[in-house]
Amino acid sequence: MKERKIIPISHPVLAGNEEKYVQECLRTSWISSIGRFVPLFEEAFARFCGVAYGVATSSGTTALHLALLALGVKEGDEVLVPTLTYVATANAVRYCGAHPVFIDSEPRTWNLDPGRLEEHITPRTRGIIVVHLYGHPADMDPILELARRHGLFVLEDAAQAHGAEYRGRKVGSFGAAAVFSFFGNKIITTGEGGMVVTNDVALRDKLRLLRGQGMDPERRYWFPVVGYNYRLTNLQAAIGLAQLEQIQSRLQERRQIAQWYQKHLAPLGDRLVLPREESWARHSFWMYTVLLGDRVKRSRDEVIDALAEMGIETRPVFYPVHVLPPYSGNSSRCPVAEAIAARGLSLPTHSLLSEEDVSYIATCLKRACEESD
Ligand SMILES: *Cc1c(COP(=O)(O)O)cnc(C)c1O
Repeated sequence: MKERKIIPISHPVLAGNEEKYVQECLRTSWISSIGRFVPLFEEAFARFCGVAYGVATSSGTTALHLALLALGVKEGDEVLVPTLTYVATANAVRYCGAHPVFIDSEPRTWNLDPGRLEEHITPRTRGIIVVHLYGHPADMDPILELARRHGLFVLEDAAQAHGAEYRGRKVGSFGAAAVFSFFGNKIITTGEGGMVVTNDVALRDKLRLLRGQGMDPERRYWFPVVGYNYRLTNLQAAIGLAQLEQIQSRLQERRQIAQWYQKHLAPLGDRLVLPREESWARHSFWMYTVLLGDRVKRSRDEVIDALAEMGIETRPVFYPVHVLPPYSGNSSRCPVAEAIAARGLSLPTHSLLSEEDVSYIATCLKRACEESD
């Protein structure tokens, strides 16, 4: 039987100093959350974002939770959240006993629609979480202006957008704080891991306190607050530092892949809506995500299944969080996000793809869309 090649949707690249740095941890036995790589990774990643401080965490989700707690989110508060995101964004609000209030997408970049924020502000609203979806930055200026006017915090969920830029500045440097993930399928990875970055030294200290079980930094085994163990290990930070050393190559490769997709998918015409990059944006192309056009009669899930048959792994766009069982209590409707979610799929996006692979994926996608034309 001929062995069929499977093209995975994502694939980490561990091509630099990962092994060397991990060996150092093993040799010196600094494998837990104390060790030189944790502060080195925090400092280097914060510098990469153009922000003063980084606080490394065990995941992007725990980074979100810590950031919301440090920003003062409490039981009964409301936080405005885009509905089109990975569920962790909303879950972190719930962990604080607060309520996510879901905001519809704008149709160009699929990020939260700044024009839909104000109508959802109530006396309980404390802040806004902005997600840079699939690596395209959200339009920060109107969001920051509105937040200032209403005294709300802005927290960036940049878990998918390492290195993306808004008006020439890296994402992660706009909000009171920003959160990144280093899960295995993100732009750089530590296996599991995350980070909060901020310019606010008081916020940094709160984040550190809460991350380390709430132990008073001046008085060992004295716990003034209930904290968490959300620490990143030195082993993970060693991998993270090595990954960060290569991030420019990873970002360039993603940009190249996006260009190849654009070239090879162009012949599909209005069967597909391709991702755009606004004039003020630099996309990080975490996942090259397309929408099926109205002309395609097959459902998105049928197209995904057909591609899987051809050995191509894809995935559906996130279900809008407001339709998921834990969040579907209020009958809010977000028609733009619902339409994107129904027609969207992410194609393989990782550094091991060649132009030949991308061209093959485009050919298969055309076939998958046409089978019922
Ligand atoms: C991946 C992701 C997270 C969560 O990160 P983990 O490291 O998986 O906990 C949060 N928000 C968004 C938008 C993500 O894509």
